[in-house]
Amino acid sequence: MSLRWHLALIVLLPLALVGGLIAAGVNIPVPQWGRDYVLRFLLPDSADDANLPTIYGPDDPSRPLVVIDPGHGGRDPGAVGAGIREKDVTLGLALALRDELVRQGGVRVALTREDDRAVALAQRPDFARRLEADLFLSIHADSAGEKSGISGASLYTLSAKASSAAAARFARKENDADRVNGLSIEGQSEQVSAILVELSQRRSQADLIEFATLVTREGEGRLTFHEQSLRSADLVVLRAPDMPSVLFEAGFVTNEADAARLTSPEWRRGFAESMARAIRVYFVRRTAS
Ligand code: ZN
Repeated sequence: MSLRWHLALIVLLPLALVGGLIAAGVNIPVPQWGRDYVLRFLLPDSADDANLPTIYGPDDPSRPLVVIDPGHGGRDPGAVGAGIREKDVTLGLALALRDELVRQGGVRVALTREDDRAVALAQRPDFARRLEADLFLSIHADSAGEKSGISGASLYTLSAKASSAAAARFARKENDADRVNGLSIEGQSEQVSAILVELSQRRSQADLIEFATLVTREGEGRLTFHEQSLRSADLVVLRAPDMPSVLFEAGFVTNEADAARLTSPEWRRGFAESMARAIRVYFVRRTAS
């Protein structure tokens, strides 16, 4: 065979193959010039239960389940203060709370992460929803200018409209976590619009206020609260339809007194004991009514 035939075959064979596939109705993905190509990480299908978090506590599905969500993790450290990172503080508090709830008994508990890993914002309440949790508690810390003197804990609920400019700023910082972690979950965050979810969260608003009141009551003398301790903002992690969801902001990593508290084992124990009591009383009232 001549060289010319060789070349013709090399060019024509693939063309004939592609032509044949198109003729047979096979859809071939063809890149288009000028389009932006973005690498996306798609989360495992919702039916995939193998990746669900472990449930601790009594092996009895009739017992109430709280899902604790330690904020941030992986490449996203969260707020950073003098030598402390929010992702470490939140994990420490979540693990201490889990252990205390298991010790006190009667309540089942699961964590959205148990080590230093990235978990997408939308996946966190999704874990709780798939486990049919009765309460979702996200744990965070905040930062402010080191000289601002702002300190103390707050509780956040979901609202499309923030309760203050500071609450709106907090939500903007928190909602940025996926970008910091390099996670791009197509449509996930926007799919569940804050306004739609707010309607369903509003139904549990009375429950949430009761829970927040219990946290401040049980935490009196042990947790230090901000003067505005109950706030609301459009926090992606709280967009969970039909499940009371609350975010506990433990304090400011940029405030010296708060940072010392957040890293102290005694304070952590005080947090775990008072939060566990608040959660248990909340559930007891739910099952009693
Ligand atoms: Zn945070």
